[in-house]
Amino acid sequence: MITLESSVTELKGVGPAKAKALERAGIRTVWDLARHYPRAYQNRGDVKKVSHAAQICRDMPQAPPCSLVLTVATEPRTANIRRGMSLTKFKAFDESGAVDITYFNQPFVKNVFSVGAEFRFWGRMQLSGGRPTLANPVWEPFSEDAPLPPIVPVYPLSAGLSQKFLAGLIKEAVRAASLEIKEHIPSEILRENGLCTAAYALRCVHFPPDTDALSAARKRLAFDELFTLAAAMGSAKNGKAARGAHPCPDSDVGELLNVLPFSLTGAQKRSIGEISEDMKKDAPMCRILCGDVGSGKTAVAAAAAYIAVKNGTRCAIMAPTEILAKQHYADLSEIFGALGIETALLCGSMTAAEKRKVRESIAADGAPVVIGTHALLSDGVEFNNFGLVITDEQHRFGANQRALLREKTKTAHSLVMSATPIPRTLSLVIYGDLDVSRLDEMPPGRQKVGTFRVDESYRERLLGFIKKQASEGHRTYVVCPAIEETAEKTESAEEMCDILFMPAPVREPPVKAALPYTEELKRKLPELKIGFIHGKMKTAEKDETMGAFVRGELDVLVSTTVIEVGVNVPEATLMVVENAERFGLSQLHQLRGRVGRGKDKSYCILVSDTENETSVHRLETMCKMSDGFAIAEEDLKMRGPGDFFARGDTIRQSGAADLTFASSASPELTAKATEAAKKLLKRDPELALPEHEELRKTVQRLRRGFENTIN
Ligand code: ADP
Ligand code: MG
Repeated sequence: MITLESSVTELKGVGPAKAKALERAGIRTVWDLARHYPRAYQNRGDVKKVSHAAQICRDMPQAPPCSLVLTVATEPRTANIRRGMSLTKFKAFDESGAVDITYFNQPFVKNVFSVGAEFRFWGRMQLSGGRPTLANPVWEPFSEDAPLPPIVPVYPLSAGLSQKFLAGLIKEAVRAASLEIKEHIPSEILRENGLCTAAYALRCVHFPPDTDALSAARKRLAFDELFTLAAAMGSAKNGKAARGAHPCPDSDVGELLNVLPFSLTGAQKRSIGEISEDMKKDAPMCRILCGDVGSGKTAVAAAAAYIAVKNGTRCAIMAPTEILAKQHYADLSEIFGALGIETALLCGSMTAAEKRKVRESIAADGAPVVIGTHALLSDGVEFNNFGLVITDEQHRFGANQRALLREKTKTAHSLVMSATPIPRTLSLVIYGDLDVSRLDEMPPGRQKVGTFRVDESYRERLLGFIKKQASEGHRTYVVCPAIEETAEKTESAEEMCDILFMPAPVREPPVKAALPYTEELKRKLPELKIGFIHGKMKTAEKDETMGAFVRGELDVLVSTTVIEVGVNVPEATLMVVENAERFGLSQLHQLRGRVGRGKDKSYCILVSDTENETSVHRLETMCKMSDGFAIAEEDLKMRGPGDFFARGDTIRQSGAADLTFASSASPELTAKATEAAKKLLKRDPELALPEHEELRKTVQRLRRGFENTIN
């Protein structure tokens, strides 16, 4: 009896070699097979007449593959054209015309195609001297009595696997799964959202009887991924205690505001209000403060720290890197100094003696505000007497560090800061049950970074512009999508398909690779000092080059997208993004945020030769918009939520949450899925009701997967 846990080797036709090939594709069990989803579909049900297909070929030089039902007209003949190379040819026809069919190196097809037999062929028609031809088309015996499936799945393959073989195995796996699979979405949620059942979705995503069934299956699976992830995140109480936090009833920050050199923005005031309300309670605060670079998170953090200190407790502030920790220390020690509140700094590079001194001071109730890196978490620092812990860019801490932090600060109020604007609908999925404060308003007087889209014809002027920036003492970032040139992957004729539901393959301009481009820049701008960093470099090497750019020893820094998030180079005034069509909106926004941090006018030049409408629209959106939250919403509209998870943030890294279908979910479906999860959790926070048993199991499995990665 085949079950979902059965090894693939228990299926017919899977010997050791095939098992190995399957393993290379990540498939070990029958359940793995059932979840090996097609990456595209061939619309073979759309059968064309020969004359019609030939007309399309004349109108469109690179016509898509098509489906033809033909009768074999002549006996196949094999000719050996060169050593080890054979051609097998025959003619086939329908009532509108004839086609020459050729197979290379497949002499055995002689035994397949007997005169008078009917087949459904799938391939790319070409005209040779005006005559329709098909080379190596896929064939299936055709009979009126047993209709062939109209939509045929195309699976991701690995060496040693063929589409036919894999499809056969998956058919068996899906049959086994259909019997066992349990529904984990409550039926009223299925009803309210017009969703099909899990078993139907699994069957139809692999072997859809028609396009409607396929749409229904994909919708269900997308909803499912987002809904279960939102349920998993939302039911994660962060390992926080229900009470035991230090209540801070005195939330008057007037004195602090007096020493700030500016008055707060509306968004800052609102966020401070939300934080101080949380901190009044004895339940620990779990709040995230989101705001673009430059939106003024530090002032909000200062207010939170001030409230903690004023109410007789202490505040620890942790940053993911020393540079950031020192930046915070510089900012905050000035503010708190003016208020007579002592601030201490602890980071890894300090000498043992210095560290000991800070640790002792922490133990002895010294400085009420302590700033540092994860060195703060190491042995010897007791967090008991910290009523508030603020973490900057928490997702950049390692899994162990986050687990340790969670362990050490169970009853402390916690404020997390993030510079990644996230659309409202995704908040629950990404941040779980953290309460969110948004700094969606920039301090006044901020200059906009002038953003322009240019094509290759602008290249010479672009070089001139970089030179001009350097001559004025300014620096330039150049970001390329890849390190080295690589041949673009092309798909084989069989794989090229009339793709349903998948984004149409678009021809994008060739990639400007960072390495050769750096050399080119050095040749063309010999008077400038140009450096290069990429993700595969050693950290020390990267830091060295980055440091040189920070100190002004380099005029231009070419890189892949690895530039340190937090590094602040106010003299950098120009960001050049090569192959800008390859970046998502949110990514472009993050890149643009590296400039415009000083007093000088800054620019972002998006270089792209794309003619693809969507890409052009995206680049134009960048030129028009500057608000990070608005851009993130637009990104969600254009690309679906997948991009937000793929950005190296918490979720995808864990490998626990598959977001295969969610990536292309509409914002409406995303909102519905997360809303449904929220509503359900409100009613049954622990998923303890019997009707939520299956969901609870799914959620537990998900949570086990990212227990250590999400704090
Ligand atoms: P973030 O940490 O969100 O990137 P910062 O807190 O470092 O931003 O603030 C960026 C700059 O804006 C700092 O120089 C800060 O002094 C200034 N700033 C913050 N809030 C205001 C405000 N309300 N008005 C004017 N300037 C502000
Ligand atoms: Mg900051």
